[in-house]
Amino acid sequence: MKILEDVLISNLTTMRLGGAAKYTIEISAVEDIISAYNFAKEKGLKTFILGGGANSIGLDEGFDGVILLNKLRGIEIIGETETETFVRGMGGEVWDDFVEFTTKRDLSGIEALSKIPGSLGAAPVQNIGAYGQDIAQVLENVEAFDSLTNKIVTIPKSEMNFDYRKSIFNYGEDKGRYFIIAVTVRVSKNKTLEPPFYTSLQNYIDKNNVTDFSPSNIRKIVSLIRAEKLPDPQEIASSGSFFKNIYVDDKKAAELEAMGARIWQSEAGNKVNSGWLIEEAGLKGKTFHGMTVNDKAALVLMNESAKSYSDLAAAREEIRKIIRDRFNVELEQEPVEIK
Ligand SMILES: Cc1cc2nc3c(=O)[nH]c(=O)nc-3n(C[C@H](O)[C@H](O)[C@H](O)COP(=O)(O)OP(=O)(O)OC[C@H]3O[C@@H](n4cnc5c(N)ncnc54)[C@H](O)[C@@H]3O)c2cc1C
Repeated sequence: MKILEDVLISNLTTMRLGGAAKYTIEISAVEDIISAYNFAKEKGLKTFILGGGANSIGLDEGFDGVILLNKLRGIEIIGETETETFVRGMGGEVWDDFVEFTTKRDLSGIEALSKIPGSLGAAPVQNIGAYGQDIAQVLENVEAFDSLTNKIVTIPKSEMNFDYRKSIFNYGEDKGRYFIIAVTVRVSKNKTLEPPFYTSLQNYIDKNNVTDFSPSNIRKIVSLIRAEKLPDPQEIASSGSFFKNIYVDDKKAAELEAMGARIWQSEAGNKVNSGWLIEEAGLKGKTFHGMTVNDKAALVLMNESAKSYSDLAAAREEIRKIIRDRFNVELEQEPVEIK
């Protein structure tokens, strides 16, 4: 177990902001988890679990606590039926390597989630999703360290209360309680996704007369679309979508729809495409305090020259005010703050 002091959170997160964390512990074996929690308890400090830092933002004052940096590695096939294969990966694996492991074996279920930055262990936390797939659709279970009982538990999907960007891991009374050690998905053999696809994927398929819907080809197409539209975290600092799509009541949904907004009906209610609100307000390509609204994907805020979290917060509040004044709705931040 490696304990580091005063590591800058800006170096651990893709938004590249934030001061130093008092301690950072690299978790490279399951035994390290309990030692790390004990270390934090002895020092009377709080903990924050970090994978790739692609959905977490550091504050200017840093973090007066212990960051648990998940470095647990390994991917394996642990079982199969006639139609499905069970693939288990350790939480510190790179999510996209896990996707590639499945598509290389012609397994379908997470191919549209290709190239989402970050770790496997974080994938269930906000139920990552893209192009019509989300991890909840294929998740079997996670193995996790329960910091409340100090036990390793297996949590089945049915107990994770998944919703749009939500699960028990980031919402409600169990938020932050579990350290996800390993994730198992059930993916399909001899099956491909079928049309109609998610709009932007379908548009590409139509334009290029694609007829090969194999997992590896869908992975290839999604990778191309993403590279065209989204900033590469290696080159441009961002947390991907900075704002979430929002839920509104029926009256508001009708009003926004009449203005041209895209609304999806879901179990949780009317979900509004917040990207449309931002675009309609003319904010694409605009810069606020060094943070620029991506001109292709309006939900993405890029840190081009922001010097601090305060700059980001000022940009966020200006954008929220513009949207509030124009549409009378509140935008919500997607990335988590490290505190
Ligand atoms: C360019 C870009 C594009 C993106 N595109 C998408 C997209 O298409 N769809 C999408 O859903 N997201 C997208 N994201 C967001 C991000 O990639 C995902 O949220 C991803 O799952 C973050 O993984 P991470 O390991 O970096 O998480 P981190 O930022 O390290 O952690 C995120 C949260 O999960 C918790 N956590 C992390 N690991 C564990 C663990 N092992 N156990 C328990 N809790 C844990 C953290 O405490 C934190 O609350 C994008 C981000 C970027 C930068």
